[in-house]
Amino acid sequence: MADLEQRTPDILPERPVTFGMPDGRELHLYGPFQGTPSWPWLEGNTDGSFSHRRWHALRREWVVYSAHRQTRTYKPPANDCPFCPMAPEGELPLQEFSIAVFDNKFSALQKDAPTPQPIPGLDIPLASAVGNCEVIVYSSDHNASMASLPLERRERLVRVWGDRIRALMAIPDVQVVMPFENRGEEAGVTLHHPHGQIYAFSYQPPIIEKMAQSFREGYDLSKLTRLPQYVVADTATAAALVPPFTRFPYEMWIVPKRFCATPAELTAAEVTDVAELLAHVANTYDAFFGRICPYVMIVYAAPKGLEDVFPFHIQFQPLLRSPTKMKFVAGVEVGAGSFLVDILPETAAQNLRNVEVTS
Ligand SMILES: [Zn+2]
Repeated sequence: MADLEQRTPDILPERPVTFGMPDGRELHLYGPFQGTPSWPWLEGNTDGSFSHRRWHALRREWVVYSAHRQTRTYKPPANDCPFCPMAPEGELPLQEFSIAVFDNKFSALQKDAPTPQPIPGLDIPLASAVGNCEVIVYSSDHNASMASLPLERRERLVRVWGDRIRALMAIPDVQVVMPFENRGEEAGVTLHHPHGQIYAFSYQPPIIEKMAQSFREGYDLSKLTRLPQYVVADTATAAALVPPFTRFPYEMWIVPKRFCATPAELTAAEVTDVAELLAHVANTYDAFFGRICPYVMIVYAAPKGLEDVFPFHIQFQPLLRSPTKMKFVAGVEVGAGSFLVDILPETAAQNLRNVEVTS
């Protein structure tokens, strides 16, 4: 254990080639690519509208308002996918690419969001929605997915998360960076090209604030990797496990055994293990439910100032409780914030462990 603690990252950091887009956004290309991007159709195309935050007087949390997002692309046909290489007026005018990251055209949080004007008669706090929203495209292949990407690409994805967290945390106002992926139409996906998103917040959102409090008080997440009844898949440096306190029936987390504040701190062996487990989790869900399983995957990394206590880990929240039944977040969950789960985490772990995965 002692020498594990002292190991330092033994891989070169992942760094992008960056291009400026005519509307002020940036494109970062990681790994090999073919072509020189240009976007003449975006010339003079700047969106002058801004988001802002309002304090929810009862829930005591920020709500972000970005009315301009109502016009965003909604389920274009496959031959009109803006993330496919060389798509007409698409975001990625390249012949081919490995992993592409760019500023979201309909960003809910904005690098230059101004302080909002007071609203006459309203006494709730208002604040600027400073931050950023990025899109991260995993492949130039429209039909790829986390379950089918080759290991080398998944390893790069883990390292790219680390580099984007580093780059966005360097913005002075940014407090938290959270990569995530919504998978499947039931999870609200409007574009099927394999991609995720990365949000950079200038404040601690409520769930991350609560997690931060637990980690500040000393909660040891890695101990879950040493409880065999919860582990679904094990590797030398990380485990995929069902937490003993699931909120969704078949929730799984990928937890490194050594503390790292961000994926940028993982060694090459640790990156490989996390990348192996990413596909294992996605394939386990698809095999278990017998269909493409919709889920929300969240990559948690330490907020600013909590780099000594808040561990990087990944949470998957599948939206199914059986092949034909959705786990709906409804009355009790929405109204009271209390989750009701009809399968014990120990049973869920056993069921998921029994799934034969071919990846
Ligand atoms: Zn596509």
